[in-house]
Amino acid sequence: MLKPPTRGDAVSAQEYFDQGELVAVLTTQPLDRTLDYKAPEGGCFLGAFVEVPLGPRKVLGVVWGPGQGGFDLAKARSVIRVLEVAPMREEMRLFLGKVADYTLTPMPAMLRLATRAPGLGDPPSMRKIYRLGSAEPDRMTDARTRVLEVLRDYGGLAFTLKELAEQAGVTSSVVKGLVKQGAVREEDSPRDLPYPRLDPDLPGKALTDDQAAAVARLQAGQRSGDYGTTLLKGVTGSGKTEVYLEAVAEALRMGRQALVLLPEIALTAEFLTRVEARFGARPAEWHSGATMTERRRVWRMVGQGEAQLVVGARSALFLPFRDLGLVVVDEEHDTSYKQEDGVHYSARDMAVLRASICGARVILASATPSLESWANAEAGKYERLDLTSRFGAAVLPEMKPIDMRAEQMQPGTWISPSLRQAVRQRIERGEQSLLFINRRGYAPVTLCRACGEQIACDHCDARMVEHRFLKRLMCHQCGETKPMPDTCPSCGVEGKLAPVGPGIERLAEEAEATFPEAKIAMLSSDLFGSARALKAKIEEIAEGDADIVIGTQLVAKGHNFPKLTLVGVIDADLSLHGADLRAAERTFQLMRQVAGRAGRADKPGQALLQTFQPEHPVIRAILSGDEEGFWKAEAAGRQAAGVPPYGRMAGIVLSGPEVGPVFDIGNAMARNDAPLRAIDAQVFGPAPAPIARIRGRHRVRLLVKAPKGAPIQDAIARWIAPLRLKGDIRLTVDIDPQSFY
Ligand code: ADP
Ligand code: ZN
Repeated sequence: MLKPPTRGDAVSAQEYFDQGELVAVLTTQPLDRTLDYKAPEGGCFLGAFVEVPLGPRKVLGVVWGPGQGGFDLAKARSVIRVLEVAPMREEMRLFLGKVADYTLTPMPAMLRLATRAPGLGDPPSMRKIYRLGSAEPDRMTDARTRVLEVLRDYGGLAFTLKELAEQAGVTSSVVKGLVKQGAVREEDSPRDLPYPRLDPDLPGKALTDDQAAAVARLQAGQRSGDYGTTLLKGVTGSGKTEVYLEAVAEALRMGRQALVLLPEIALTAEFLTRVEARFGARPAEWHSGATMTERRRVWRMVGQGEAQLVVGARSALFLPFRDLGLVVVDEEHDTSYKQEDGVHYSARDMAVLRASICGARVILASATPSLESWANAEAGKYERLDLTSRFGAAVLPEMKPIDMRAEQMQPGTWISPSLRQAVRQRIERGEQSLLFINRRGYAPVTLCRACGEQIACDHCDARMVEHRFLKRLMCHQCGETKPMPDTCPSCGVEGKLAPVGPGIERLAEEAEATFPEAKIAMLSSDLFGSARALKAKIEEIAEGDADIVIGTQLVAKGHNFPKLTLVGVIDADLSLHGADLRAAERTFQLMRQVAGRAGRADKPGQALLQTFQPEHPVIRAILSGDEEGFWKAEAAGRQAAGVPPYGRMAGIVLSGPEVGPVFDIGNAMARNDAPLRAIDAQVFGPAPAPIARIRGRHRVRLLVKAPKGAPIQDAIARWIAPLRLKGDIRLTVDIDPQSFY
């Protein structure tokens, strides 16, 4: 059953509350304080997960400390019951408190983030689960096919009846019918099973000298049992994954738990196979594609120490680890580590925070680290380890510009004659090419040639993007779609609407016309119904089932395509000129990541960048591969401007249905900036946000800039405390913003 609190057997007085004693309970409800309750029959531990009455409802909470008192004790209500899960540890309570302070998030929202698993209150009992059976059903219907497909898609995972029926879009009687036929198996199962043991002592791969040296350092750090962060920088294919898996092995040998964060769910299939090969079993998986049943199992088992390794997306950082000894943040520069709704946090930065609280190590792995991590390593805050060569025969691709000013381009085409020739060569040799364009859809703009109107979203300040595959226009801000009209919605003229500019679908069309003999595969996050389908496609491509891959940003992320020897970047200039302070850094990282897809196996690769400005300093840095030079120049520029990582920033977004009142509040905030001035911070704005309207809400931005080391959260908290937001106006604060929409 339940294990006792983890800090030894002797429970000190403040850690346990007798029946009837007053306890303060933090709930998941949006209140600005804890609530007092009487401890239930049998008492409760500090950190216990409890169910408490709130008005007519029962809500989830955690015992946060002794009650505050100060009211008529006869009116105090009792905790309804203590849930049968491990109590929240002190380390976790501290961590949530610090993240709340850092991100200016109310504690109830933090608690919600830390309890994102369903049915935590359910007793650990038996229930029915459903898996793929061996028999064929007597006859197939569409509904039956869908059920079996879902089971196959999830590769052996079990479902509850409700989950399976919902996932397949059928009634539960369809599933029951399949059970009768033996095509689906019904089993009794304890609600949550421990994960199979991973064996860190199975033989790993023979390491190169470089790799072995890095492993020795990481393992020594691991054995120290103290906090420490290492930046593991290595070109794509240098074996970073092999190296950090050995650090995981060391953590497991010490009996501690490890967490590997990955940016992209499509990556996990390949990764899980590698973990299984190294440790003999699969780790726990935590991401949005996992079933609810699986999420609850992970949450519970992590808390009981029965999951040694978790592989997951950023929110896995808030799982209730019993003894977290290592966090790996793979592709640490990836922007998806920053959550930009709800709690605005950076999983990379919060991983460092959590590790420093619980005495764990952090490994930040990347071929193209963020300037933040590079600067922390320069400053000696992080250790830095470099892997400089690719494993085995693989060499880094040769990088060259294609000067688009000198190419003969037909209107409405984007593949230059030079790139065309290079692709043709690869097709003749039976090798793969990747054409990279960072734009989903068919065309970013639909223009009326009669009146000049560009079709825009009704609810957002954004143009609709044509998706020919869906035969619809789509708003990439709010997801709204509408059919492609025949006549211009503005002037009513028929047949004059024309696509402008390329997206991945249009590029694929051009490639099909240019290389009719080639097999073309498109990889874009929106072209696949499920993450599983996307994974399957990636595996097919890796096995060689495509001559030309056309992909968006998705392909930049760590997939291994052994036959790929050419990368053509359609528009290397695309992200150079954003207003974003990280535009240069992002372009640099993205171009080098994409180029790193070429030549991973034994054949050398080449990357060709189509650009109109081959002399641009960023393009030149990308081509020359002088990374340290690029970072030093970039760092100097940021230092001069006093921006991150050499200064602090916070983004404030005010939004509401009417633009006037939103601006009024923004102006009042800008005028009453005494708390900011007190720490030498400046406020810019209010100004309409770059996307001034999303989902019908008008958006106004303010930007706070403060010197490095200034207590920016404190100042902002004092600055916004007097605000009374009326009606439907909302304010969000984003500390260390990564994007500025
Ligand atoms: P990175 O994470 O730096 O991109 P990986 O760890 O994925 O690099 O390694 C690239 C490829 O080389 C993988 O297929 C990996 O299995 C292989 N590899 C790396 N190091 C070794 C080694 N020491 N022995 C055998 N294969 C290796
Ligand atoms: Zn929209």
